[in-house]
Amino acid sequence: MQTPEFDVVVIGLGAMGAATLYQLAKRGVKVAGIDRFAPPHDQGSSHGDTRITRQAVGEGAAYVPLAIRSQQIWRELEAELDVPLFEQCGVLVMTASTDPQRPADARDFTDNSIDLARRYGIEHEVLDAADIRQRFPQFAPLADSARGYFEPGGGFVRPERCIDAQLTRARQLGATLISGQTVLELKPGAEGVEIISTGSPIKARQVIVSAGMWSAQLLGAPFDTLLQVCRQQLYWFRLDEPQHYPARSPSFILHSAGDVDACYGFPPIPGEGSVKIATEQYSVSSQPDSLDRQPSLADAQRLFRELVAPHIAGLAPELVKASVCAYTVTPDSGFIIDRHPHLAHVTVVSACSGHGFKHSAAIGEALAQWHVDGHSEIDLGSFSLQRFL
Ligand SMILES: Cc1cc2nc3c(=O)[nH]c(=O)nc-3n(C[C@H](O)[C@H](O)[C@H](O)COP(=O)(O)OP(=O)(O)OC[C@H]3O[C@@H](n4cnc5c(N)ncnc54)[C@H](O)[C@@H]3O)c2cc1C
Repeated sequence: MQTPEFDVVVIGLGAMGAATLYQLAKRGVKVAGIDRFAPPHDQGSSHGDTRITRQAVGEGAAYVPLAIRSQQIWRELEAELDVPLFEQCGVLVMTASTDPQRPADARDFTDNSIDLARRYGIEHEVLDAADIRQRFPQFAPLADSARGYFEPGGGFVRPERCIDAQLTRARQLGATLISGQTVLELKPGAEGVEIISTGSPIKARQVIVSAGMWSAQLLGAPFDTLLQVCRQQLYWFRLDEPQHYPARSPSFILHSAGDVDACYGFPPIPGEGSVKIATEQYSVSSQPDSLDRQPSLADAQRLFRELVAPHIAGLAPELVKASVCAYTVTPDSGFIIDRHPHLAHVTVVSACSGHGFKHSAAIGEALAQWHVDGHSEIDLGSFSLQRFL
């Protein structure tokens, strides 16, 4: 049998891969996507019901156009498929400390968000503790020193639905989807790449690797030393007093002064009687194939005791559900979107340091523009691999 040949093969169909496959198919490219599981699934970095989206991205100005364009693409997909993807409930970013000795930080996440919103003309409000308490009773316990940035145009997206929607559209537009096959090796040649997997080999003129936490396994050096997989836990705490934690709530990000001890959360999802809250850890690295997928009850209790109870009202410490997910983190916590330095015809997209979902739809579009037009409308230069080499 002849080896199937494609213009582009996308390896990994999570947030980045599904978006890229869809955008390539939309431009008439002969494209295939391969995934080791059947996406959307709960084994990678794109599960857990919700992802925060906001336009004034405190991580840096280079991200702002990607977040704005992604929100537009999700609205386009919603209209095409009649499925809700983006809930515009607003985002509240806060800095608050229960420790009066902790000084304010010049790199404060809330201040960065305010600066970016002013620079980019993003609609927002700056709130003090009294404003926050009056508008959002769930944050009534916050310290008097608390400050907030409220962006009414932000909110959350549904990651599994976004992936499903983009794969559905990709398939409708002629893309080939292969699930349940793991890519084991990429063999570049003069004309393209031979893709060796647990299924039959296929060939592509170009390959885009969006393999999330498995990226380093497939890409080798220098990614094996650059990328760190950080296990994260997600907890859905029981909603105890809905009058304190109203159904119409924004997504939130809460920092203690000094940019440490952050937690973030979402409005209650109707009918579920719980609120998803999580924190982040970067100190322990994991291997993707031996990731401990069992959430820790003791860690949930610590999170509730140390971060939820002092700052947030209306929740009980009991868990309704819990999950484990992982970040793929670069040394500067930015993204890597670039050509592979040693493997010809291979582009690398997915090392998104735990904040990639809100940008994923636009990253897929920009990559498709790279491949079809030779350049993208949104500049991806800030995500170059060269900054580490
Ligand atoms: C707990 C948590 C909370 C987060 N919160 C936010 C948030 O609020 N806002 C935000 O913007 N971002 C957030 N992020 C980050 C965001 O979700 C990720 O950056 C993004 O989803 C990663 O997408 P990806 O496509 O790189 O990886 P994945 O979605 O994991 O996709 C990788 C895919 O590659 C496949 N694959 C891997 N290896 C192979 C192989 N060899 N062969 C075939 N297939 C392969 C996998 O099966 C998988 O489907 C969060 C992440 C986590 C974990």
